[in-house]
Parts: sequence; C-alpha cells; structure tokens
Amino acid sequence: MDFVSAASTVCRACGLCCDGTLFTAVPLTAEDRTGVFVGATRLTQPCRHLEGRCCQVYGQRPLACRRFDCNLLHALRDGEVTTDGALDIVLEAQRRVDEAVVKAGLGGRAQLVAAAANPACAPAVTYLQVHFTRLLGPGARPEPR
Ligand code: SF4
Ligand code: SF4
Repeated sequence: MDFVSAASTVCRACGLCCDGTLFTAVPLTAEDRTGVFVGATRLTQPCRHLEGRCCQVYGQRPLACRRFDCNLLHALRDGEVTTDGALDIVLEAQRRVDEAVVKAGLGGRAQLVAAAANPACAPAVTYLQVHFTRLLGPGARPEPR
C-alpha cells in the first residue's frame, strides 16, 4: 500500500485532530475564508464538518488541515510503523481518550485539552503527545507554514 492510501486508511479510523481531542481550533487564513468558511477566522473543534471520523469538506479543507501531519503519519511515511501498527496505535489512543473522559468526568473529548493536567487524563495525554503531537503540545492547531 502506498503512503497516501495508508494515511487515508489510518485517518479514516482516527479523526483525533478534528474531534476536539488534540486541538481546540483550526486557524483560518484569508485564503480559507471563502466558500464554506466565509466570515470565520477560526474553526472550533470538534469540527462541524466531521461526520463520524471523516471530513465532509475534504477538498475544501483549510490550509492548517492540509498542512498538518501528526507524528503517527510521519512515522508511517518514514516506514517506522506499518499500516496495521498505526491502526493499533489509533485504537489504543481512542481507548485511552474514552477512558480519560469517563475517569475525569469530562463532558466530552473536547474538554481533554483543558483537563490535560488532571492525573486521570495522564495515560491518554502522554500517549497522544508521544504518538500524535510530540512536537506541538495541546491547544490550537499550528498556523500553516
Ligand atoms: S491525528 Fe493523525 S492519524 Fe489521526 S486523523 Fe489526524 S492526521 Fe490522521
Ligand atoms: S475541515 Fe475537515 S480536516 Fe479540517 S478540522 Fe474540519 S473535519 Fe478536520
């Protein structure tokens, strides 16, 4: 399987960068603020364009979405993890996030960023930082470069 197909398979099982787990918002550039994003400066998460774990505006998604590759996709591109291995990491991340939501009494995944210091969230936050945002930290998605 080539990288694009493998990444598509993994992302369709994941959605963590769109459902509020990793980021609270997507910054919109002037170029983005047309069409479905007209008038907005940022796209709050969970994204209203996410259905299940798939983006419904994929062809028109903002620059910050197009430019974002998490650590897991970097590892997949570099051959450090197989597609099946990446899917296992996604499943484990989903499990830890759901567990943190219950144990910390959060209203949903979108509260995880704000509750990152809660010890009940530590297994999920540590795992997310290692496999998804090691270089970024929680909060808003990085400005597109
Ligand atoms: S966090 Fe990574 S693997 Fe998950 S949907 Fe986003 S880019 Fe894809
Ligand atoms: S526009 Fe699409 S890729 Fe960007 S955050 Fe929303 S669902 Fe995710």
